Amino acid sequence: GGPTVADPAKWPKAASPGLVDPGTEKFVSDLMAKMTLEQKVGQMIQGDIASVKPEDLRKYPLGSILAGGNSPPLSGNDRSPQSDWVATARAFRAVAMEPHPGGTPIPLIFGVDAVHGNNNVIGAVIFPHNIGLGAANDPALIRRIGEATAAETAAAGPDWAFGPTLAVPQDDRWGRSYEGYSEDPAIVRSYAGEMVRGLQGEPNTANRIQKGHVASSAKHFLGDGGTFNGVDQGDTRVSEDELIAIHGAGYPGAIDAGTLTVMASYNSWNGAKMHGNKSLLTDVLKGRMGFQGFVVGDWNGHGQIPGCTPTDCAATFNAGLDMAMAPDSWKGLFDSTVKHVRDGTIPMARIDDAVRRILRVKVKLGLFDPARPLEGKTGVLGSAEHRAIARQAAVESLVLLKNSGVLPVKASARVLVTGPGADSMGMQTGGWTLSWQGDGNGNELFPNGETIFAGVKKAVEAAGGTATLSADGSFTSQPDVAIVVFGEQPYAEMRGDIRTLEFQPGDKQALGLLKKLKNAGVPVVSVFLSGRPLWTNPELNASDAFVAAWLPGSEGGAVADVLVGDAAGKPRADFKGRLSFSWPKTAGQFANNKGKPGYDPLFALGYGLSYARGGDVPTLSEEAGLDPSLGNTSTFFAKGVTPAPFSFATDSRVTRKTVDGPQTQEGAQQLAWPNGPATLRIGGGGELDLTREANGDLSLQINYRVDRAPAGKVQLSMDGGNTKGGIDATSLFTGQTGTWRT
Ligand code: BGC
Repeated sequence: GGPTVADPAKWPKAASPGLVDPGTEKFVSDLMAKMTLEQKVGQMIQGDIASVKPEDLRKYPLGSILAGGNSPPLSGNDRSPQSDWVATARAFRAVAMEPHPGGTPIPLIFGVDAVHGNNNVIGAVIFPHNIGLGAANDPALIRRIGEATAAETAAAGPDWAFGPTLAVPQDDRWGRSYEGYSEDPAIVRSYAGEMVRGLQGEPNTANRIQKGHVASSAKHFLGDGGTFNGVDQGDTRVSEDELIAIHGAGYPGAIDAGTLTVMASYNSWNGAKMHGNKSLLTDVLKGRMGFQGFVVGDWNGHGQIPGCTPTDCAATFNAGLDMAMAPDSWKGLFDSTVKHVRDGTIPMARIDDAVRRILRVKVKLGLFDPARPLEGKTGVLGSAEHRAIARQAAVESLVLLKNSGVLPVKASARVLVTGPGADSMGMQTGGWTLSWQGDGNGNELFPNGETIFAGVKKAVEAAGGTATLSADGSFTSQPDVAIVVFGEQPYAEMRGDIRTLEFQPGDKQALGLLKKLKNAGVPVVSVFLSGRPLWTNPELNASDAFVAAWLPGSEGGAVADVLVGDAAGKPRADFKGRLSFSWPKTAGQFANNKGKPGYDPLFALGYGLSYARGGDVPTLSEEAGLDPSLGNTSTFFAKGVTPAPFSFATDSRVTRKTVDGPQTQEGAQQLAWPNGPATLRIGGGGELDLTREANGDLSLQINYRVDRAPAGKVQLSMDGGNTKGGIDATSLFTGQTGTWRT
């Protein structure tokens, strides 16, 4: 199948309820009659606040701004205080609403990645990432999370949350697996509409902003979770039937619930980039599915269409994209698009359709009404009510994989709490938290949260027990039990792509800690923080109990509500979570075969023990089960992390053509490359050259050309399988070329 759909009528029907009505359409028509061509094109372009200044809007009347995953509203690498968000939103809006020469003022729509709470703002409640919510399997809870997220977002200024993510991840090596609710389309289907209703309110609600709601964006349309080898932004090679049944599962529900926007996906379907796929964006989404809101692009996603660049892409608009996300490329895209309309490359009717959709959404959201009574009422951020919802969500998301009887921990016990995640808001919250990659956040940036250690301490101290935090698992007096919190360090998008499902390949730090405690005669309870299921057989064997806690968010302390019983050791709450992602039996069990005949995971979908349905698991094989040919692939990334990703940085995957030398060494994976240079394109203008030196060593070289320089300093990092390197670049300028080497 694909890249063009065979028959839109095979797709499920849906409809955007109440989005089109005569009053709104007349209001929009009257406005459009007063708009200049430049204003219309401006509506279709969104810039990032790291690159647009409010006064820019006088010359470039953009319809939207965003604060992308890595763009603080003011300056510095940390997210600014709440008041700065409100001030930023107001400053942009004020310029947008100035009288427009020859035209008429049009309100802006301000979007943010509020993907697990309003995760951009210090003090906000951070809900579990979607993977944990999937395990909770509680649609009613999803709606309440959406409502709380909307309230915390609207109070801080933005009007629009870039969620829910409706990906149905099929390969856990994908770095965005945790953004999906489940590998099972049925769970995604049951959640999609609930999250949209939570964020936006009921479909027919007028003026949502005044009611503390925001617009939602169902993303990423379509096939984001199905890419070959789990490569972020890669190619989804599936039939049309699979695209409909698996990856498309959430969209009809989101549209029927009234989602005002849908975000196009970076991935291709059978080789064709979604940002240019007219049959899916126009014929299926807008036609068959009756979607009457607008389609927004992903971060310079249009620039990945062959023949396009971030600053020039008629093809995306002609395919049906209504608003391009052009964070740093807005100026060039604006100029080239105006030109393409003038010379007829983009028909005026297409522009008018896109602008009508955008204005319709702005009307329904309430953006034409300047009164925003809830904006600036930032007391709602981190409120007790929202924290209670997050705590319930964290509790419900826990999946008990093993319990030989050590749980629940008696509240009167002497508990040792250890492991890198024991007292780490950064590890609890994961990527997309205060910054794009979510790493490096100190606990002090989460004034309204509780770490796992703090939760355990509170629970045991209330009943005469003690909890001691130990960085390395050492202790002075013998504890009754150890709770060891470990797992993945935070990551987002392609930075989280991995080659195999083995947890900590070559570097078994956590396992060492578990074994050390066991050898010292201490019963071990493992709490595993991760954005996906991973092959952890050795860690499971070394634990007396093992809990998959996913990325539980700012209320990670809730883990204690279930793990710690009362003083007599009776449970205070039971485990409720069931796997929404199957758990692998080997490190090589990943190849897009979930749910297919012969697929035999260690723990299947729906698995989860509880105090009522207890159980140990037998000793597991510690053979990683890796196919040696896996040494053939590795992934390299270069992406700016501060202050803004810049245009050429994306990922590439290199497949070695010849095998020479050992694949695996103790401690590190040996990467092997073709003899002679291999050239890879990094989307949008960089090149990666892999060279074997005369002495046989591998050298990796990135020759780069900066198509569009970001403002300020940029730091880049590279990830190649297990070869990691940081590259500090300083200020980059457009047109600059250079080389990085490892
Ligand atoms: C991601 C989107 C996100 C956007 C804005 C992109 O890189 O794919 O999910 O909404 O950035 O930050």
